[in-house]
Amino acid sequence: MKLPQTHADAAADFLKDTERSHWHDDTLWHVRSKRDASAEKIPEWEQLRTLASQIKNHVLSNLDTLLLQFEKNATANGIEVLWAKDAQEHNEHVLRILEENQVKQLVKSKSILTEECGLNHFLEDKGYEVVDTDLGERIIQFNKQVPSHIVMPAIHLKKKEIGDIFHKHLGTEEGADDPQYLTEAARQHLRQKFIQAHAAITGVNFGIAETGGFVVCTNEGNADMGTHLADIHIACMGIEKLVPRAADLGIFLRLLARSATGQSITNYNSHFHRPRKDKKMYLILVDNGRTKQLGREDFRNSLKCIRCGACMNTCPIYRRSSGFSYNSTVPGPIGSILSPGMDLKKYSTLPFASTLCGSCSDVCPVKINIHEQLYKWRQVITKDGPPQASKKWAMRFGGQVMSKPRLFDLMGKMARKSLSISPRGFVYNSFNAWGKHRELPEVPKESFKDWYKKNRNK
Ligand code: SF4
Repeated sequence: MKLPQTHADAAADFLKDTERSHWHDDTLWHVRSKRDASAEKIPEWEQLRTLASQIKNHVLSNLDTLLLQFEKNATANGIEVLWAKDAQEHNEHVLRILEENQVKQLVKSKSILTEECGLNHFLEDKGYEVVDTDLGERIIQFNKQVPSHIVMPAIHLKKKEIGDIFHKHLGTEEGADDPQYLTEAARQHLRQKFIQAHAAITGVNFGIAETGGFVVCTNEGNADMGTHLADIHIACMGIEKLVPRAADLGIFLRLLARSATGQSITNYNSHFHRPRKDKKMYLILVDNGRTKQLGREDFRNSLKCIRCGACMNTCPIYRRSSGFSYNSTVPGPIGSILSPGMDLKKYSTLPFASTLCGSCSDVCPVKINIHEQLYKWRQVITKDGPPQASKKWAMRFGGQVMSKPRLFDLMGKMARKSLSISPRGFVYNSFNAWGKHRELPEVPKESFKDWYKKNRNK
């Protein structure tokens, strides 16, 4: 699927289906409401957020030493630790491991990092069978799409559509859309894949520096099923996913599930420390632009993200325009501050896909100042980004008018006059994106300034 280039274009595509857009908005708002209800039950919620934010500050300030400590302990546990500077190196590590172990089929649990690295396509092009085992991921893999949400990858699809996809790929009854029936069909299908696979790939939610172990959180137990049945476990981890101590996990696990879906706890929080007897475990630590982001003072704390998705569920733009409109592995508000750091030109429209209402920052469990960073990126893009001549001229003109009171009054008069006599097409035309979905209020006969002069002494 060729994605449109700008956020506005892609959002316009999604908004053509008004019913889906409303339904998507309502569905995600429901998840946000569940998050609120769940958080409100914890009196110390705000302290947890503050603690998590401070721990992540510590991690980012000591990332070099903590990573080395983590590597040392993981290696001592019998895990083979590999480093990848970018997506290509990550994918090549995985390929080499599969080649060395003569594995052709593998199962994968949900990992945003492997999406970021384009691992599936890389391996499929080389003849490997990669099966995503998270139910939502498997649905979009069948449908040849990318995830539209980091926690609920198929949230853009309705039951009926999933029924059609399963009918086509799994041979379920035509028209069947009962979730239990469809889930059972997926279960039987995936069970076979789990049994056949010799390698399992997982992401990592938290790496623990003091133990060299790591934690993978899933609601379906698919990471556990894959890693327990396969001889080889390859865990792929962004270098920012560290916590210093095992004791820190309690804070993050309480925040993660509640922020993501409103659950008290994720169903499976699986701790991995070492390979089982006669099995192999690999851990790939991936940079892929993270150290660059760490060096950007205004944006470094975006690396605190624990990928709960709460900022997406609350964002009025994301809810209405869907994850596809961002054309980025991580969509929504956090994606809009991470992606420009990866490719400023490609993602230059994302920081503008926000009302700057601050709701994302309010719900973020690690207190990332997302809306402030969106605003900062806008300043960077306006200054250093690709030229947007129309915007630059409009801003220059606006600046001139607003800095000269007489000119401002004159322009106001002219605008009121011309708007009251102009044909409708003068304002509502294809050049005016603003007017496509909005109506101007009735044009007043006089300016507020004139009205105030006449009425201030009454
Ligand atoms: S930025 Fe915060 S709210 Fe958004 S996904 Fe990351 S941790 Fe969750």
